Amino acid sequence: MTPVRITILGSTGSIGLNTLDVIARHPDRFVVYALSAHSRIEQLAAQALQTRARVVIVPTDQAAAVFKTAWPAGVLPPEIRVGQQALADTAAEAHTDVVMAAIVGAAGLPSALAAAQAGKRVLLANKEALVAAGSLFMAAVKESGAELLPIDSEHNAIFQCLPHDNRASAPTGPCAGVRRLILTASGGPFRTKKWHQLTDITPDQACAHPNWSMGRKISVDSATMLNKGLEVIEAHWLFAMPADRIHVVIHPQSVVHSMVEYEDGSVLAQLGQPDMRTPIAYGLGFPERIASGVGILDLALAGRLDFEQPDLEQFPCLKLSFEALRCGQGACISLNAANEIAVAAFLGGKLAYTDIASMIESTLTWHAGQTFRALTSLDEVMALDAEARLRATKWMST
Ligand code: NAD
Ligand code: MG
Repeated sequence: MTPVRITILGSTGSIGLNTLDVIARHPDRFVVYALSAHSRIEQLAAQALQTRARVVIVPTDQAAAVFKTAWPAGVLPPEIRVGQQALADTAAEAHTDVVMAAIVGAAGLPSALAAAQAGKRVLLANKEALVAAGSLFMAAVKESGAELLPIDSEHNAIFQCLPHDNRASAPTGPCAGVRRLILTASGGPFRTKKWHQLTDITPDQACAHPNWSMGRKISVDSATMLNKGLEVIEAHWLFAMPADRIHVVIHPQSVVHSMVEYEDGSVLAQLGQPDMRTPIAYGLGFPERIASGVGILDLALAGRLDFEQPDLEQFPCLKLSFEALRCGQGACISLNAANEIAVAAFLGGKLAYTDIASMIESTLTWHAGQTFRALTSLDEVMALDAEARLRATKWMST
């Protein structure tokens, strides 16, 4: 069998590292074609050396110089490509069979979209792409015949629980016989606290997720549950499901990764340890099941599984996400943009934790006062994204 050539966009991140871990378990099956990183360029060089990647993509000429310095003398280096456009071009080029889209934030949208337009197998970890440009992205998948495999654990679980012959990559409507999608959420580190008690939370406290080890941005999103809000929007696009048929239930143990409820009352769930290598291996091997390195799930050891209704007053960011989804794509772009600005400011010590929700709310109010505009191209989406970011940044200085 000819090895499948993989491009990992965001290879130094949490998803990137887990992907490399799974790939390394199947040396005959996969080869790494390209890797990218935005910072930690020395780590990128070590990864490229180990995997013998043919191409690396870095953000600037300065980063390219760091890469060259880090590369050992006497070893043939990979081709170094520079800049945003190189990410999209590499994702779309003929030498790439599979793209792992694991760049964090809306910055990952252009390259994920390019992979979809080029008809690749797209392993979509980046959720902001669907939140900001769901209709554009799904239309590209449909038109090119790309294979879209969701990697976010909840969506991967739902994908696994849907009827096999109905899992078209770009569905035109909800799967027949499906009544609801039920996304599970751990509730994060502040599940038992009230929102107003959280004003003095530090970035390290917010990033201390009880079950999952992830990048810092998504860890903060998990604490505010804005992450679940993004996932509801993501599920809406991936599975063509209206907002009122997507439900969220808090499940503190993170063993049930999500569920599909059918018209006959059956509920199918996917269970497993909270380890992203399971959905990554599923996407890499699909339709085959391949080893991921994840250990067994011992339910007797887990003992009990709890479920509770989320309190939208306790998690205002989740409430704002449902509101944005009901308002439409422009509101979702504004929600995501404001959140990225807010979380970066919070992680940088410039914004209180509870002001994350205030900044998002203010940006959504600004967006509601805007006149309707077309969002049918990447440029139009990115222009609104940039405007919403400016708006959110301005809110911080007032
Ligand atoms: P991370 O912060 O650990 O890694 C992000 C990667 O993107 C790094 O390689 C970084 O160099 C690169 N990057 C950052 N900014 C960039 C930019 N402006 N341009 C190009 N590259 C850039 O993030 P992560 O936790 O691996 O998450 C990646 C994506 O996957 C996010 O969208 C996240 O929501 C999603 N996701 C992550 C998990 C998880 O368990 N970590 C689970 C589900 C979904
Ligand atoms: Mg998730």
